[in-house]
Amino acid sequence: MPDDELQAYRTRWARLFPEQRHVDFDDCVVTNDYCPDCRFCCGPQKESEPFPMALLDRQISDRTADDFYLLDDHTACLDQRGCKALGPAGCRLDRSLRPVACALFPFVLVNRRLYLYRVCPASMFVDAAALADMGRRIHAWLATLDPADIERISISRRPEDLAAKYLDLNLPVLV
Ligand code: SF4
Ligand code: SF4
Repeated sequence: MPDDELQAYRTRWARLFPEQRHVDFDDCVVTNDYCPDCRFCCGPQKESEPFPMALLDRQISDRTADDFYLLDDHTACLDQRGCKALGPAGCRLDRSLRPVACALFPFVLVNRRLYLYRVCPASMFVDAAALADMGRRIHAWLATLDPADIERISISRRPEDLAAKYLDLNLPVLV
C-alpha cells in the first residue's frame, strides 16, 4: 500500500475518531473500542487475495459453512464479499466461535511472526509503546498454544503486501 493510501486512511480515521479510544489485550482477546464504529476488517475487502482465518478443531461444527465463507473445512475467509458472519449489528457469532485471528486483530501472525496491521485506526492512534507492550503479551499468550494451532493460525502474505501493510513487532518467531 503506497504511503499516500495509508495517509488517506489516517485522514479518514481521524475524521471518524477525533478522540483516542481504549485498546488492550486481556483474557486472550484484544478489546478494541474503535471496532464498533469501524468494522473495516469484517466488511468487503478491496484485495482479490482472501484473508484466511483458521478455525480450531473445537470451532468446527455443522453450522460452520453457514457462518463463514470457507477456503477449506478448517479455514474461514474474508474476501471481497466481506465476512459471512457480519450482521447489521456487527459480528453475529459468540466469541468462542470467532477465529483466533479476529480476537487478535490488528495483531496478525504471519509466518509465525507477530505483526501489526498498519491500516487499523488502533494501529495508527494508540501509543506505540502501548502497542509494543500488547504485542509482547499477545506473543507470550500465543507461545502457550499447541504448536499445531500456531501453525494453523499463522498465515502467509505476499512480501510486497507484508512490507506495505504490516509492521514487524520484532518479536521472536513462534515455534
Ligand atoms: S480495522 Fe481495526 S478498528 Fe477497524 S474493525 Fe478492524 S480491528 Fe477493529
Ligand atoms: S467472524 Fe466476526 S469478528 Fe471475525 S471477521 Fe467475521 S464478522 Fe468480523
